[in-house]
Parts: sequence; structure tokens; C-alpha cells
Amino acid sequence: MHRSNVFRSNDDLLCSHCGESLFEDFQNATILMVTDEENSIVAVKPCCKEACLAELKSEFHGDNVSGQIQLSDFVNPYIFLKHIFFVFDGMRGRRLFASNEAFEDYKSLVKKCYPFVSRDLTAEELLSQGL
Ligand SMILES: [Zn+2]
Repeated sequence: MHRSNVFRSNDDLLCSHCGESLFEDFQNATILMVTDEENSIVAVKPCCKEACLAELKSEFHGDNVSGQIQLSDFVNPYIFLKHIFFVFDGMRGRRLFASNEAFEDYKSLVKKCYPFVSRDLTAEELLSQGL
């Protein structure tokens, strides 16, 4: 999958369980979103499908509910923006993230995936940003 040049550094997205790069194989990567009984996000865990996903799900048992989105879907520009708007809507009027850690993990996920969502900057735009 094409990565744009919007950031100077190319941060990798690693599996939260085994540490493998998830950008190597988008089709084998998913994002586990764990919510509590109040529907607040408890954890955001990018991971490999199958074994790593099963291990992470078992860490968040009890009253928590796990949803997931495929990484290949998350970097679809339309779905990416829908996800961002979901978060904006959730921040209006209630506590969407159960912890600062979950919020920071979500922000990190968005930043790392953004180069796969965005287009390349033009040479003129790069110059105007001093890059
Ligand atoms: Zn893994």
C-alpha cells in the first residue's frame, strides 16, 4: 500500500501482542477496540489477526466488549474520516475514552495510519512547509 510523504519519519505500526510490523501485511492486521459497560473506549490495540487478536481479547474479558476494524478498512480515506467523526461526536457530551492511555493510543494509531490515507504533497507544498 502506498505511503504518502506527509511526515518526515515513517513510524511503523506494531502488533500490540507480538511486535510484528502491521504495515507489512494490511490484510493480516486488525484494530481491537475495547469498550467498558459505559461504552467508553478502554483500549486501542492494533494487532495481527488470529492468535494475537485472541490473546489480546482474553486480556480484556469481564464486562468489556471488543469491537474490531480491519487495518485495510481503517486506511480507506472515507472510512478513516468516518472514524474521526465518530470520535468527534463521542467527545461531545460524554467521556468517549476511559483513560488517557486509550486516548493517546488512538491518537498514535491515527497518526501512523494517516500517511496511507493522505495524498502526496506537491513539490510546492513541501517547499512552503520548509521540508
Ligand atoms: Zn501479532
